[in-house]
Amino acid sequence: MQNRAEVHVDLGAIAHNVAQLKKISGVPILAVLKADAYGHGLIPVARCVLDAGAQWLGVALLDEASAIRSAGIDAPIIAWLVPPGSDFTSAISQNIDLGVASILSYKQISAAARTLGKKARIHIEVDTGMTRGGFLDEWDSFLNILEVDHDDVEVIGIFSHFARADEPGEKQNAAQLKSFVEASDDLNRIGIEPQIHHLSNSAATLIDASAHFDLVRTGIAMYGLSPDPQTLGSSEKLSLKPAMSVRAKLHLVKSVLANTPVGYGATEMTSCDTKLGVVAMGYADGIPRIARKAGVFVDGKRAPIIGRISMDQFVVDLGPNSAAQSGDWVLVFGPGEQGEYTADDWGAASSSINYEIVTRIAQRVPRIYTSHEK
Ligand SMILES: *Cc1c(COP(=O)(O)O)cnc(C)c1O
Repeated sequence: MQNRAEVHVDLGAIAHNVAQLKKISGVPILAVLKADAYGHGLIPVARCVLDAGAQWLGVALLDEASAIRSAGIDAPIIAWLVPPGSDFTSAISQNIDLGVASILSYKQISAAARTLGKKARIHIEVDTGMTRGGFLDEWDSFLNILEVDHDDVEVIGIFSHFARADEPGEKQNAAQLKSFVEASDDLNRIGIEPQIHHLSNSAATLIDASAHFDLVRTGIAMYGLSPDPQTLGSSEKLSLKPAMSVRAKLHLVKSVLANTPVGYGATEMTSCDTKLGVVAMGYADGIPRIARKAGVFVDGKRAPIIGRISMDQFVVDLGPNSAAQSGDWVLVFGPGEQGEYTADDWGAASSSINYEIVTRIAQRVPRIYTSHEK
């Protein structure tokens, strides 16, 4: 089949990043594989990171964890976005560790475990200041319940999540760390001693050794992207290699005169006689419609977007002297080595972040795996 657009995933880059994060942290790595491994492809990335030395896997959804088990992967895995009413029986029987953040889900998990006759492996999530997941108002009541009723569970871990780890020196990080230690002490006081304390995301793994504890949960950095290029520096500065490149075909190249309106709403006009390229990707493929100052790399240079992004296509200004032709491949984004736009550039051009760019590249764009060992 001839594709009109492709995602290229460099598994060698992911392996390099895992090794780099292991070196920096000095503790075991939990590879975060939610959202189809941030758009890179769940199963190929799961195999890659385990080969590269990650010891744990983490996902948001039970379905994501089940898909990993169905592929025959038996590494320890946590699913942490598992609301009450989820199929806890299936999770426990598949040896999927569960994040627990409410009394209701704890009760349901315990009941499912009792019925199965198999202990549920749980990680208790505490809200240390992000005010999203984790126990907060129910904490004291939960401790009372847990103290007298924990025969159906094995408390493997306690964890929390930073709100501002990408801001070095931010006071909230120290406050969250302190609160995390206090919550761990609360558990110890009722006789519960989890083996694994985990708090760090990519940003904390990269810059805050005091938050590494027994395991770090790395997502974005493992895919070679900086958690925040503004505050933490680029991938290159962090010695990370971006793994995802997206390329698409020029559906068409056409010559147009100056002052020609382009696209829906005629929001932009050509500034001179020029050649336009119609790129065969659009917002249905995850190209953000709001993106302004991005474009593609073709014929050795950047060609900026002109006019609105459509559902399946967008137009770029190739310049009057471009040698690009209908059917040529263009690079939408890549590691940046040749001067192409990066996921960081697309994030900035969309008032968003690199995370959103890579995770939203649609499933209708095929993933192609390469392994450039460098
Ligand atoms: C997504 C997520 C991570 C990974 O965050 P990155 O910034 O991508 O490293 C870690 N922990 C939890 C609980 C998450 O939801």
